[in-house]
Amino acid sequence: MRIIIMGPPGVGKGTEAELLIKHYNIPHISTGNIFRELFETELEIGKIAKSYINRGELVPDDITNEIVRERLNEKDVEKGFLFDGFPRNIDQAKAFDAILKEKNWKLDAVINIEGNEELIIKRLSGRRVCEKCGAIYHITNKKPKVEGICNVCGGKLIQRADDLEDTVRRRLRIYKDQTAPVIGYYLASGTIINVDGTRSIDDTHNDIMKVLGE
Ligand code: AMP
Repeated sequence: MRIIIMGPPGVGKGTEAELLIKHYNIPHISTGNIFRELFETELEIGKIAKSYINRGELVPDDITNEIVRERLNEKDVEKGFLFDGFPRNIDQAKAFDAILKEKNWKLDAVINIEGNEELIIKRLSGRRVCEKCGAIYHITNKKPKVEGICNVCGGKLIQRADDLEDTVRRRLRIYKDQTAPVIGYYLASGTIINVDGTRSIDDTHNDIMKVLGE
């Protein structure tokens, strides 16, 4: 399976992606995660990416497309893949098409998870993550046992810079202006599957599996 999962930030793409990759046994390629891993290195590209991400802006296409090209040269993607958070604009979608064409690969599905803006702002601005192990919490929906401390590893819970409310609003605006048009781009090829992401994780997952014919 070669799948893309799309949708506004905070709609639950990452969570749905985890369920799908388990089902199909394919790698989960999240450009956001790749960038966050690069933060931890001394590489210049990590510093550049961080400056865009912390402001809630898109990392420039030349950097992003190159990272995707390199990732698609790894062995594990030969059995398929699930892209999460890429492509994020029409130029990236075109660059992705060109890479797929070179490899003679076709996409099987583009899953578009639809969300509600106010719900997303609440979800993201209340999100806290463990700075040590990455476990995710929410100040009202998924509280840790001890405030500010991770249940799993005892690490400190922090708010991602890009989850601050103003930054979330900027991310949503960029999504509307630049990423939503990508849905139209894939509509033409008949690969788009629209799913309601305002319900529970399991309901959304079941809908996706149904449309994928599973
Ligand atoms: P995500 O974890 O997918 O929400 O991504 C977090 C941040 O990483 C985004 O707000 C962007 O700043 C950056 N990012 C992730 N994927 C891309 C992409 N395909 N193009 C440009 N920037 C990206």
